[in-house]
Amino acid sequence: MDTITPTPQAGWHFDNSYAALPDIFRAELPPMPVQAPRLLLFNRTLALELGLQPEVLESDYGAAVFGGNQLPQGARPIAQAYAGHQFGHFAMLGDGRAILLGEQITPDGKRFDIQLKGSGRTPFSRSGDGRAALGPMLREYIISEAMHALGIPTTRSLAVTLSGEAVYRETAMPGAILTRVAASHIRVGTFEYVAARREPESLRTLADYVIRRHYPLMADAENPYLALLRAFIDRQAALTASWLAVGFIHGVMNTDNMALSGETIDYGPCAFMDDYHPAKVFSSIDTQGRYAFGNQPNVAQWNLVRFAETLIPLLHAEEAQAVALAEEAIEPFPRLFRHHWMLMMRAKMGFYNREPDDVDLLKELLEWMEQQHADYTNTFRDLSRAELPELLAYKEAAFAQWHKKWLARVARQPEPMEDIRRRMRQTNPAIIPRNHKVEEALTAAAQRGDLGPVQQLLAALARPYEELPGLEAYRLPPAPEEVVEQTFCGT
Ligand code: AMP
Ligand code: MG
Repeated sequence: MDTITPTPQAGWHFDNSYAALPDIFRAELPPMPVQAPRLLLFNRTLALELGLQPEVLESDYGAAVFGGNQLPQGARPIAQAYAGHQFGHFAMLGDGRAILLGEQITPDGKRFDIQLKGSGRTPFSRSGDGRAALGPMLREYIISEAMHALGIPTTRSLAVTLSGEAVYRETAMPGAILTRVAASHIRVGTFEYVAARREPESLRTLADYVIRRHYPLMADAENPYLALLRAFIDRQAALTASWLAVGFIHGVMNTDNMALSGETIDYGPCAFMDDYHPAKVFSSIDTQGRYAFGNQPNVAQWNLVRFAETLIPLLHAEEAQAVALAEEAIEPFPRLFRHHWMLMMRAKMGFYNREPDDVDLLKELLEWMEQQHADYTNTFRDLSRAELPELLAYKEAAFAQWHKKWLARVARQPEPMEDIRRRMRQTNPAIIPRNHKVEEALTAAAQRGDLGPVQQLLAALARPYEELPGLEAYRLPPAPEEVVEQTFCGT
């Protein structure tokens, strides 16, 4: 690609370790240029964390870089190879519409992938056009940044750039490119890809790379690959628990959408539920409810078994022994998940020590919420309010009874009630990206070219644990006519 302008000092500091791995892991190619790149959203805060210069990047130069028309200094663009189980079925995949520009080293020495999503066709595109529509890219920007603000490990979003080209889905839509920032884009599916190629040395190379990059402490373990497996299982248990704690439904928990870093990745038809029900599904393509809210821990475990299978050749020289080790590592997953989940749910309920009846209290609350179609986010948030008994929704007899038990439970703790309420407000968000607010903002942007609602929503989501004046509308559940029944991946 030609350099069209002298490279300004944007703060790029690339070190491209993944591109330096053997050929099997990727295809080397630049993003495909677009007609008329225009920077629509730019995340200044994230840019500064990455050591980038916002003033330099909020320019035609930035639009050219984030549109894929100009390579930043030091980039070595690749499309990553991977496979994956999609709704249970194995497929060879790969970055069909994304290019990894390289790994940015931040001023404090951290390493982040900078990826363009929607960057044009690659050798892995199959029948796809390699492009993305504006709506889904804005959606990923909004929800990934909301997840980050909630304190949940996630890939992040640096920019959304209009391509100036149309993409054709059901109809013509404005095309866009998301600049995604991730600890890495290595997936369970990356291991499945290498395992399917039956190249034991490549598998070892990948596992060693992941240990170096994401699990450095495991390098010193007696069996580093078993240690990697165990550590990843624990990270995934914690991640899934944190989704459940905020009412998040990923929507497409295929193995290619599960990152080895333990970050939430690949926001498609994901959603936050309003009223609580464990069987909630929003994704239009999840007809069987495979990825329903309450099924996420089961799916995580299923995916982890797929991961463990890929590691068999590395776990032990004898296959039977290796299988036994893998099974031993997976077996505690339900307990691990429960441990993380209860830790989070205890904190949500304002319990800072353990009592044997805590689980029952939680179950009773969840059952009540399910029966009453109560709002998941607001019920937990309201629990921290001193005035709760006066609120109409909570005058219901079963709840009032439960609330008495809850009051007695928190009163048995040494902390003053005021401290408990304050701490509860730090774990129970007031603002989540509610589907109707997300849809409203996306419609304004994609159909009317009005970015105002997206900007306002992003500002509200940036401080989810505060109740700032003027943001009340973001805390309300949808009115009946506002309820979003389905979400779409729009790929
Ligand atoms: P996703 O559902 O976004 O996780 O993508 C699953 C697979 O389909 C990945 O290999 C993507 O790269 C590929 N894919 C999705 N959309 C497109 C597209 N428009 N063009 C080419 N490949 C795509
Ligand atoms: Mg994906």
